[in-house]
Amino acid sequence: MRKKLIAGNWKMNQTVTEAGHYFEKFKVKAREDVDLVFILPFTDIPVAKFFISRSSIGLGAQNMYPAESGAFTGEISPLMLKDLGCTYVICGHSERREILGESDEFIARKVKCALDHDITPILCVGETKDEHDAGKTEEKIETQVRAALEKIPTDKVSNVVIAYEPIWAIGSGAAATADEAEAVAKLIRQIVKNIAGKKVSDQVRILYGGSVNAGNINDFTGEKDIDGALVGGASLKPEEFISIYQKA
Ligand code: PEP
Repeated sequence: MRKKLIAGNWKMNQTVTEAGHYFEKFKVKAREDVDLVFILPFTDIPVAKFFISRSSIGLGAQNMYPAESGAFTGEISPLMLKDLGCTYVICGHSERREILGESDEFIARKVKCALDHDITPILCVGETKDEHDAGKTEEKIETQVRAALEKIPTDKVSNVVIAYEPIWAIGSGAAATADEAEAVAKLIRQIVKNIAGKKVSDQVRILYGGSVNAGNINDFTGEKDIDGALVGGASLKPEEFISIYQKA
């Protein structure tokens, strides 16, 4: 039985002051059956930790450099994230792939490095609108999933969370349909099965992301292969994010 996961990705939003106001309002009753995680800008992580330290809410970062320390100006290491209390990190969000040119190979190194440091990587995969319209979704997803998972020891693959985020649905207000998302989640589970076997593919958590809100979360979490959501814009509103968590 896979435990559901709701992860809120604030992207590059909220100053430390704003984050403090947010967490003053974020009062939620914990659920045993759903994990809740905030994926925050680095600067907001300590303030979040102050507010949620006595709860079961998890903390994560939006990026990480795959080395423990060294001459990597502007980057953040897994040791730094662990010391801040992060147990999750996003690897390969489409905004980083597209705007910052991150390659499948570089993202694979981040996923492996996160696992080596007992940080759960949330691997993001997804196709562009053009690829979607050209019927290339499956090919794109297979390439991205294989690149990230094939170099990982089989027994560690179940610790990866995979988020299917169609790029055309992110921030657009037009989410994929539950059927579309389920079809890709099922494909991802099949790819994981081919790489690491059935037991692992039954364990791996697969999220949907792309314009999830309190009104559509149930459509996605009601699907067999979807184990939760990666939520961007709607996680910036405390009441709505609480509602998404409660309905998931
Ligand atoms: C995201 O940032 O990963 C995301 C899915 O954003 P939104 O929910 O705003 O579409």
